[in-house]
Parts: sequence; C-alpha cells; structure tokens
Amino acid sequence: MLLGAQRGRSGVSGVKSGPRTGEEIIVPGHNRWPEFLSRLSRARICFGNTKQARLALAAMDGVDVDGSLRELARLGGSCDCQIELDVAQSLASRGA
Ligand SMILES: [Zn+2]
Repeated sequence: MLLGAQRGRSGVSGVKSGPRTGEEIIVPGHNRWPEFLSRLSRARICFGNTKQARLALAAMDGVDVDGSLRELARLGGSCDCQIELDVAQSLASRGA
C-alpha cells in the first residue's frame, strides 16, 4: 500500500537534508525521464512555478520530488514550461 505513504509528504520543501534511500532523482537521461515528461506534458499552461512538475513527480512511485526539482532547477528548469522545453531540449542537443 504505497499510496498512503506517498500522500503524507506532499508540498514540503527544503526540509529534507537529502534523498531517502530508494528514492530516485528524475533528471534528463534517467530511464524514467520520459515517464515524467509525458505526465508533465498534460499540463498545458505554465504558471511560472514548478507546481505541475511537482505533481507529476509526486504521482510517480519512489521519486524524491524535492531533490528532483532541485536538480531540474540547476539545469535551467525553474518553471514547468522550462523543464518541458529547455531541459528536455538541452538533453536532445547534447545527443545523449
Ligand atoms: Zn514557465
């Protein structure tokens, strides 16, 4: 029963000191990156924050939501559309 555990940790940022064991950081190149992108692409409007990216990550099992958002911000994805466009594009242009 993962659902109950997942729901308990939504919306908290800057509290954890690091990823917990077994939680994945979703970044370009990760084998679950396409899964994240397809979830995020359902969001048509960017509100200038990462709320929808957060929701997309939170909907995936075993993901460190805050850690992933931190990594994505470092890659230039400081809001939903930048994650979907800029970060995804940088992956494509790198030819990885
Ligand atoms: Zn945006």
